[in-house]
Amino acid sequence: MKALGIAHIGIAVSDMDGILKIIEESFGLKCNFRNKLAEQGIEIAKIILGDSSIELLKPLNSDSVIQKFIDKRGAGLHHISLAVDDVEAYINHLENSAIEMIDKIPRTGADGRRIAFIHPKSMGGILIELEERHSE
Ligand code: ZN
Repeated sequence: MKALGIAHIGIAVSDMDGILKIIEESFGLKCNFRNKLAEQGIEIAKIILGDSSIELLKPLNSDSVIQKFIDKRGAGLHHISLAVDDVEAYINHLENSAIEMIDKIPRTGADGRRIAFIHPKSMGGILIELEERHSE
């Protein structure tokens, strides 16, 4: 099985407005989508760039997984999301290769697509997300 490309790059930030301003001024890129996921304690902003996007993740409270990440490793690269055509089939494929999944069952991501996270201990410390993308 083969991933289709980079769906997005996830970046943990403390100052969402500040980073969005820097990205707009430096690269002429505007935020396309911004939303608060209260139950996950995350504010998310997406900047679409060709077939991929930059996903900025800001913690909304101290219990947020993003705040825990920033406390431990600082702001910066949080995860890489790879586009695949069938998340469920990909989870089976990885589990058959003894790769540990965080999500053994796909869940719905911020923009309604099916996603699943792979455990970083199976990926050399990198958090990788699978995102389902249907070819149009
Ligand atoms: Zn993501």
